[in-house]
Amino acid sequence: MDNCLFCKIAAGEIPADKVYENDAVVAFRDLNPQAPTHVLVIPKKHIATLNELQSGDEAVVGRMYGAARDIAASEGFADPGYRTVMNCNEAGGQTVFHIHLHLLAGRMMHWPPG
Ligand code: 5GP
Ligand code: ZN
Repeated sequence: MDNCLFCKIAAGEIPADKVYENDAVVAFRDLNPQAPTHVLVIPKKHIATLNELQSGDEAVVGRMYGAARDIAASEGFADPGYRTVMNCNEAGGQTVFHIHLHLLAGRMMHWPPG
């Protein structure tokens, strides 16, 4: 999609510190990390919010979680634990309208989240 920051990162048009890529997803480090490790996993397909997820898109969301699992394992967080979050729209705290799974690790997470 034109003028989408994360589509441009997925296409390599805007630089990012990529940590993982396969045919379906790309993952890169968040510019403003909220934990010692903060990675964003995005689909290569443009999907604006979770609300726009189509019935054929479930597999890509599964691929996002599979990537998060693999990154957590390769960075040593599988056993200590980590958090995955997807924000939706304004009240959910979404600021970039191309779905992304936050992978946060390296510190104790709080509950309930703010
Ligand atoms: P949201 O608030 O939509 O759930 O998360 C958007 C995330 O994207 C934020 O954590 C923000 O720091 C991150 N972000 C925004 N712009 C950029 C960018 O240009 N590069 C990277 N790597 N992260 C970004
Ligand atoms: Zn996009």
